Amino acid sequence: MNKGLLVVVSAPSGCGKDTVIAKVLDKMKNDAYLSVSMTTRQMREGEADGVNYYFVSVEEFQENIRKGEMLEYTCYGENYYGTPVGPVKKLLNEGKTVFLIIEVEGGENVKRIFPEAVKIFIVPPSLQVLEKRLRSRATDSDEAIKARLLIAETEFRRACEYDYIVENDDLEDAVNDVMAIIRAEQLRINNMQNKLREVMKNA
Ligand code: 5GP
Repeated sequence: MNKGLLVVVSAPSGCGKDTVIAKVLDKMKNDAYLSVSMTTRQMREGEADGVNYYFVSVEEFQENIRKGEMLEYTCYGENYYGTPVGPVKKLLNEGKTVFLIIEVEGGENVKRIFPEAVKIFIVPPSLQVLEKRLRSRATDSDEAIKARLLIAETEFRRACEYDYIVENDDLEDAVNDVMAIIRAEQLRINNMQNKLREVMKNA
């Protein structure tokens, strides 16, 4: 069996990264999983522990760091966010594709530990469209939207650190683009060594 693919997905808020990856996971069925992160931030309405995040205290988070149980972690805003390493390693060993939806700092740290990880950055068609999307959500104040747009601009500047850029204008197109990236990466020679050995076994 070939080892699974680790896929880092980043995008400023409002770019639809969760929706795109949810659709990709739907299409890939049991071949792909989304890593559930750990965070110290407050649970939002509609979220559930163990589904959206593992919601823990600062002490618990720091204990996990100390025990070496985090693949990567970062302080974003005033809260810790991190990826528990155990489930990721297990799924990769089972040959599954594992998605990490994390911010750019975390993406950089993952690549240091897993250089073979594939990094995808999702962008909106333009900053104007992003602003429109953030305003249409009607969940944030004008101040908060301006702050998000400023963060978005700094994150866009780091998009060149990624392997692929996917534009989320039409959702279906964006999903197909991510699927195409995954398929191409699965077929890379490094990821096909076991298959090659199998084919050559009786040569
Ligand atoms: P939110 O609080 O809106 O759920 O997430 C804030 C930011 O933290 C988002 O950019 C999200 O992708 C990022 N994030 C979520 N989980 C992780 C994680 O495990 N590690 C890192 N580095 N960032 C994360």
